[in-house]
Amino acid sequence: MASILLIEDDHRIREALARALATRGHEVRSSATGLAGVEDALAEEVDLVVLDLGLPDVDGIDVLKMIRSVSPLPIVIATARDEEAEIVKALDAGADDYVVKPFSSDQLDARIRAVLRRLGSDDDGGPVVVGQLTIDQRARSASLGDESLELSRREFDLLLFLAQRAGTVIGKREILAEVWRQPYGGADKTVDVHVSWLRRKLGESAAEPVYLHTVRGVGIKLVDPDA
Ligand code: CA
Repeated sequence: MASILLIEDDHRIREALARALATRGHEVRSSATGLAGVEDALAEEVDLVVLDLGLPDVDGIDVLKMIRSVSPLPIVIATARDEEAEIVKALDAGADDYVVKPFSSDQLDARIRAVLRRLGSDDDGGPVVVGQLTIDQRARSASLGDESLELSRREFDLLLFLAQRAGTVIGKREILAEVWRQPYGGADKTVDVHVSWLRRKLGESAAEPVYLHTVRGVGIKLVDPDA
């Protein structure tokens, strides 16, 4: 999907993230120090940088500024620092997004995809895969394992929308706005009804969710049950 440079000094985190992102279809390379990271970010073919802030040689914020001073390369900060001031500083310095450790690789992947989508360099229209679920955007078909799913147009759009953001809770308002193009729609029930239809087709229920989880008062998220 994308070529990602991981700048992270902790080798366990680096290897775990590299593996997790690679299994999600990304091509991943990594740098263990800030300066090596800046060099790699500018020298290699990279679509996006995932940057740790606590680095041994140069602070991540300075790495961010160095890259940003010469390149618009999208940068997602992934760090243990969770102070508001630190987050604001990173975003002001040109970070495209920010995730605080510990985060799931699903969340990081969703944010990477969201940043790339926003910048228009992602979505090659290729299949979206989450667990046993495969959604072919071009053919507008979906399958669960070897079973193909018979979906209505809206069900397909909803499933694709949620699968592209797997691991992230999406509010019903946002779903209505994006899938139904109803920015002011008050009919949350529309979403609920389609989610329940989708659940039936996926062979699950609200009481025993597998892929589709309702987060009460917040929204819906689609997850990989095997992750
Ligand atoms: Ca670190």
